[in-house]
Amino acid sequence: MFVMTLIRSRSDTTLNPTRDFSQALEEFFGQGACFLLAKGRVALYAGLQAMNLGRGAKVVLPGYTCMVVPAAVQYAGLRPVYIDIDPWTYNLDPDLLEGFPDSGAAAVIVQHTYGIPAEMAAIRPLARSRGMALIEDCCHLFGTRIEGQRAGTFGAFAFMSGQWNKPFSTGLGGMLLVNDPSLAERVNALVAQEAFRPGAFKNLLLRVQMIAFDWLVNPSSSGIVRELYRALGRLGLVVGSSSVGELRGEKPGGYFSTMAVSQVRRGLRELARIEENLSHRARLIAFYHHELPRIGFAPLPAANLDLPLLRYPVRVANKQEVLQRGRTSNVEIGSWFESPLHPGSTVMEDFGYRAGMCPQAELASAQVINLPTHLKVDESLAEKILDFVGRCARPAECLVASR
Ligand SMILES: *Cc1c(COP(=O)(O)O)cnc(C)c1O
Repeated sequence: MFVMTLIRSRSDTTLNPTRDFSQALEEFFGQGACFLLAKGRVALYAGLQAMNLGRGAKVVLPGYTCMVVPAAVQYAGLRPVYIDIDPWTYNLDPDLLEGFPDSGAAAVIVQHTYGIPAEMAAIRPLARSRGMALIEDCCHLFGTRIEGQRAGTFGAFAFMSGQWNKPFSTGLGGMLLVNDPSLAERVNALVAQEAFRPGAFKNLLLRVQMIAFDWLVNPSSSGIVRELYRALGRLGLVVGSSSVGELRGEKPGGYFSTMAVSQVRRGLRELARIEENLSHRARLIAFYHHELPRIGFAPLPAANLDLPLLRYPVRVANKQEVLQRGRTSNVEIGSWFESPLHPGSTVMEDFGYRAGMCPQAELASAQVINLPTHLKVDESLAEKILDFVGRCARPAECLVASR
């Protein structure tokens, strides 16, 4: 509470928002050094670069993620290798990590998919005993505690995303929390020497984009308006999340950039209402959880139900149809992940993924839709979303090899 009051009083008048935002995050986590960068993927890239793992070293990650994650690994001169997910938690399966044949991996990226906490109690000792550096992908959760300890504080570093549809938005943007002090020093030097700083024009562009996004993209805006926003993106008038070249593994110009001041200010405002945000998400998760069985769908295993998950995953037999009808009926249904390396259009071979490598992730990609929990969705809208699922979706037969 103290931290929140501090942030609130600082955010509008401050002379150094960048320092204030990174300090507020450090206070929130109670440890570490925080760096503010252009995107979550850039935070991962910076952390990996500073680790000096050695060219071509392997980095293990779940084959159920955004393609920008293995892309950042490759830009840092490293090699992504994939492990399948547990079909119930959508997170890297610790048993598979244990049986992983390739002992030569230098690091493992643990992703808390949809905000469901990964099994850190099993994964951390495994990583340690094999000499793998532990990295947390915290793009889907913020502040969640795992057996009393905040996600993000378990490994050498964690990265977070400030994209529109992440726990809280900085209007794109990314945060890097470095827990290892000597690594933090190296990141600090790297950012000072190599990162681009967005100029006044880029800052203005991002600011205009935030305003456009707030006006155009919300549950009541029509599909046409949202299409307009997408069209602006294609024209290069808004800064999109990934370019066409990026989907093929090409590093875009200006990739390694810091966060713009307009984004930092938004981050401060969002952090000031983080408790409201998270309790809202937790309420909607509980709602979906209790109502899904009523319409014939399997809820998540019960362990995570008072958590502020980012999205509620639901397995359906007719995913493409549901997404299509969601678009035409203007109902917000998420498609994460469309493929083991989201989105569906990723050229996965360019990132070392071959079909069949992660069967559970491939099945989940074909079946899972997800339901929103953000602040623009209230309970009556959540009810409409559930009604829509009940009418349009068929429950999936289920899993490849259930336990
Ligand atoms: C969104 C996302 C990222 C990347 O975040 P950006 O800010 O878009 O770079 C990384 N990992 C996961 C799991 C994500 O969902």
